Amino acid sequence: MGDERVIGDVQAHMAQGSGPRPRLVAVNQPWSEVMGEALALAREAAHADEVPVGAVVLDTDGGVIGRGRNMRESTGDPTSHAEVIALREAAVAHGSWNLDGCTLVVTLEPCLMCAGAILQSHISRVVFGAWDDKAGAAGSMYDVIRDRRLPVRAEVIGGVDADAAAAVLREFFAAQRADEQVSRSSEG
Ligand SMILES: [Zn+2]
Repeated sequence: MGDERVIGDVQAHMAQGSGPRPRLVAVNQPWSEVMGEALALAREAAHADEVPVGAVVLDTDGGVIGRGRNMRESTGDPTSHAEVIALREAAVAHGSWNLDGCTLVVTLEPCLMCAGAILQSHISRVVFGAWDDKAGAAGSMYDVIRDRRLPVRAEVIGGVDADAAAAVLREFFAAQRADEQVSRSSEG
């Protein structure tokens, strides 16, 4: 079904002839640029002492309709991951829970919960930065989003600017460990 949709999109592009083709631009746009936006949200999370993960949702024309960053500590809500927040904002902007044709760009491979939310949103494409070998549900630990047993799946593009996305996380945890050591040594 996912494959058929991609083919349908290609035919729609071709049917538009040689005029302006905004959807084709959206499909071909370099993911690095929008990943940069997601990374900025991840850094914002780090400054707020949250695990730095950021996410952006693009509509079918490539416009940003949702943004999110991890807010688990500040909200005390275990479901307030960057992806869930970005999907919620996008659904409000879109006027529907159904985000078919939209793209989610996130700095870290989605977890099982977010993979579930992604499937529920019927979003068409997921682009992510760093792989999460321990808990990723989009190709490393699990491959939920592309599970062929499911009626609705999404295209997955992983490892976009993975080094930058991983560095933000690495630096955050290194700083956290350094803080813990300082507080431990000051306690005597
Ligand atoms: Zn998640």
